[in-house]
Amino acid sequence: MTTHDGKPFNREMLESLVRRRCFYLPSFEPYGGVKGLYDYGAPLCGIQTNVVNEWRKHFVKREKMFELDCSVLTPYDVLKTSGHVDRFIDWMCKDPKTGELLRADHLVEDVLEARLNGDKEARGEKVETQEEPAKKKKKAKAMNVKLDDELKKEYEEILAKIDGYNGEELGLLITKHRIKNGDNEVLPPVEYNLMFSTTLGASGPAFLRPETAQAQFLNFASLLEQNQNEMPFASASVGKSYRNEISPRSGLLRVREFLMGEIEMYVDPEGGKKHPRFEEIKDVELAMLDRHTQTAGKTDVRKIAIGKAVADGIVDNETLGYFLVRIQQFMAKIGVDQSKLRFRQHMANEMAHYAADCWDAELLTSYGWIECVGCADRSAYDLTVHMKKTGAALLVRETRKQPLHIEEWQATLDRKKAGPKFKKDGKAIEAAVDALTQEMREKLSLDLEREGKITLEVPEISAGSVELEKELIKIEKATRIENTREYIPNVIEPSFGFGRILYSLLEHSFWTRPDDAARSILSFQPSIAPTKVLLVPLSKNTDFDPLVKRLDYKLSDLGIEAKVDASSVSIGKRYSRNDGMGTPLGITVDFQSIKDATFTLRDRDTTKQVRASEAEILQAVLNLVHERETWADVQARLPAFEGQEVD
Ligand code: AMP
Repeated sequence: MTTHDGKPFNREMLESLVRRRCFYLPSFEPYGGVKGLYDYGAPLCGIQTNVVNEWRKHFVKREKMFELDCSVLTPYDVLKTSGHVDRFIDWMCKDPKTGELLRADHLVEDVLEARLNGDKEARGEKVETQEEPAKKKKKAKAMNVKLDDELKKEYEEILAKIDGYNGEELGLLITKHRIKNGDNEVLPPVEYNLMFSTTLGASGPAFLRPETAQAQFLNFASLLEQNQNEMPFASASVGKSYRNEISPRSGLLRVREFLMGEIEMYVDPEGGKKHPRFEEIKDVELAMLDRHTQTAGKTDVRKIAIGKAVADGIVDNETLGYFLVRIQQFMAKIGVDQSKLRFRQHMANEMAHYAADCWDAELLTSYGWIECVGCADRSAYDLTVHMKKTGAALLVRETRKQPLHIEEWQATLDRKKAGPKFKKDGKAIEAAVDALTQEMREKLSLDLEREGKITLEVPEISAGSVELEKELIKIEKATRIENTREYIPNVIEPSFGFGRILYSLLEHSFWTRPDDAARSILSFQPSIAPTKVLLVPLSKNTDFDPLVKRLDYKLSDLGIEAKVDASSVSIGKRYSRNDGMGTPLGITVDFQSIKDATFTLRDRDTTKQVRASEAEILQAVLNLVHERETWADVQARLPAFEGQEVD
């Protein structure tokens, strides 16, 4: 991994910076901390707010989605019906000697990667790794081992397919390749459910939600009504989700409590799931790693225009394709390095059994490619199972433009005669008649004509079947006119993990000054930076105070977050400190400012300055923060300032 200026990325430096500046910290640290739980400090809170705001603007507002804020506590029945109780699992191996619980796919991945790296080292090739210490220790055992070409290829193929194996397959890989936890054999993989269980008062078992989606689905009927029964439309929700990860690792990337942004777009399953705005984005190219490439054990990425990807059947439908492009555009907006973004399709055995297609937006970090957004076509699965369980009408009923004429076999029981004859069995018999398939009706109509009666299976009654004479039942071909159409919508779901996006953004924004590698910079876009402007009086001289205050108030009135740094260290040090916080702009108040109300404006990335009147400086700040002008534009129209050294 390299920084944007082509230098090797140094994770230790970033980690030291974020710790010093309180971006995030392990939760409950005085008690020893808890794996997979972190607290965000002020800078990361600010960035998160800005990223979530951009997300709301980019998706919720622009696409006129219905935002929801649903309960975290979810009754058992909801997640039993959705399949999470039975299937929301990872495969876990136990090290019986140490008692350690390990995610089976991570264990296989770590050991095979270490062996491949060991092979590279043995051949004198350069290995680029930035693992955590525990992982390093485990890998050390595998270092400097030469692998033959066939085995190397097999390892590479396994790694390309690592997300697609089930427990049994992982068990076989562990045995075949003698994969151990250090020196220790591990027990075969077993299922481990990721949900946190709890109880809801006296009313029974419940879970902390593992995703926001289920509660959104259960609001479908009200949302449809709010949308005047019109399709398609989407709901969206931002909120915490909870997953009891087996072995959380990689800092913010795998945690047990995280902020999600989920969109549920409800579409008509008929007509190819087209999107009304697809035309606008069809030429946008995405870096794609499709499932066929991965199944062949490869990881080559191809740049494909989304229009072509949908036309060629690489991406299942327009709506899914539309969101992939909108995800890419969102990532660009918040400052994700576009060369470190790819879309990876799930392999057939990696997808939920009901999913029609699924793509992950992955960001490259020093931990490898990380799934930051999952974008799945969940078909009609969720609405169907909840409707079946509860009877709620989670479907669309619409008047047909042209009534549908359906030729069909109709079977009608004469209720007046059947009621008194069958008494308490009448209802079950009527239900059995209604449930007859078209084929059965056709066959029974022939029986009726030939024999004057039919025998109908009714398992619900004690006799198990019943004879119905011609006088009791009529079966004939007729035309039915259908004026309404009923269907269960399909759902396309982009699901964002903000913590992963924020961490990737930290890595993508991090670099050091070319002339001083000890000076770290976080080059956030102005819209994302937690503070936009640093106000620095030249010294502690109180003559500067009124001007600093005035600028601070004016910036605040313009809606721009500013921070005053009047500490006694040099201006250069103060700026450098704030470069590490990602503050894009700085205004210096000096003696000249007292004389003529001119100020200098400094750009974080180039360290260059311009000098101009208060009004011009404030206007330039406003333009830069709202991305109406670039620094180059400002430099071209305002006089350069070469005075004091503030780099
Ligand atoms: P999923 O529902 O598993 O596709 O997850 C949706 C998104 O949530 C992923 O793309 C991640 O960004 C995020 N996510 C899932 N699990 C975790 C975790 N343990 N820690 C942080 N983010 C997560």
